[in-house]
Amino acid sequence: MARFDPISSLKPHIQNLPPYEALEDLEDLAATYGFEPEDVLKLDGNENPFGPSPKALEALQSDYGADRYADAAQFRLRSAISGFVGVPAENIVAGAGSDELIDLIFRLWVGSDDRVVTAGPTFGMYAFDSGLNGSTLVDIPRLDDWSVDADALIEAARGAKAVFLASPNNPTGNLLQSGLLDALLETGALIVLDEAYIEFAEAESAAVRSASEPALIVLRTFSKWGGIAGMRVGYATGVAEAVDVMLRAKQPYNISAASQAAALASLDDLEVLDERAGVLVAERDRLADAMRRAEWLQPYPSDTNFLLVRVRDGRSGHEVSEALRQHGIFVRTYGGARLEDCFRISLGTPPQNDRIIAAIAEIGSASA
Ligand code: PMP
Repeated sequence: MARFDPISSLKPHIQNLPPYEALEDLEDLAATYGFEPEDVLKLDGNENPFGPSPKALEALQSDYGADRYADAAQFRLRSAISGFVGVPAENIVAGAGSDELIDLIFRLWVGSDDRVVTAGPTFGMYAFDSGLNGSTLVDIPRLDDWSVDADALIEAARGAKAVFLASPNNPTGNLLQSGLLDALLETGALIVLDEAYIEFAEAESAAVRSASEPALIVLRTFSKWGGIAGMRVGYATGVAEAVDVMLRAKQPYNISAASQAAALASLDDLEVLDERAGVLVAERDRLADAMRRAEWLQPYPSDTNFLLVRVRDGRSGHEVSEALRQHGIFVRTYGGARLEDCFRISLGTPPQNDRIIAAIAEIGSASA
């Protein structure tokens, strides 16, 4: 008998699965570019530059129960999130980052014969999980101002199993145009509204609405506003029936004891987290203004903790990223024609943003 071959035996749709382009490691990057890790500004992951809240840090140093499995029903965590978001705990399920919940939604509702719709450029996880689960992804490209092509999106949503939209969107930074959600909910598809950056936006979350709207699931996270990306805590809100299935189908102990402790403590430290979010929003305007004054950089309007920036002097985003790397500043760049001359930079603390502004001045325009 021929032995089992792990490659030829793969499910067909996994054979050519493109890898998810994950973030580079900070220590590796620092070593490659000759910096000490503490001197590097790693602004490619939209993390929170202020780090975890003081109470979260304290909780992580406490005896949070590392010897026991954490509560599979996530009772305390869901209750605390309920107080924060304003929906009952029965409408909330937590995941190891919203990433885990995106995958769970695919596994529960999207079959290999199904179509899933999104509007690129957007968060890469929707395409990755669609590939992983063997469904067909239909991309309805955003218009030049990065708004979604409403008519084409609604048309594509009819007959699709699910629509994944980030609002505010990564990497374009903008909110979904108002009114469109109503129309999408009528299409028969499950609408997954990913609000990873909503705490930085001038907009209401749709979480409350999702608790009584069967066609809507909202995703939120502690990774951006909450400053604990490394702890991996996100959550979904939806009608109790949908949430109940997600609770039953998730890995039982998906939230570690440490992650649960950090998330609970963060929710007990809202004043600090809100104040920090306010600083980041103000810094967003300050950094954008400085870039506009530099003239060779055009930042797009943003409702998030990052800026998508177009380079206007003929250089690619990658070239400018390389120049910033020489200053110890690491940003995100993209393949594909639409974002070739762009980079995305997460906001830093005020002194870190000063350093970015100084680096931009030093790099200068290629056409100057
Ligand atoms: N959604 C969007 C739009 C994101 O940009 C990100 C993080 N890059 C995520 C979800 C994932 O967040 P989490 O850390 O909760 O998995």
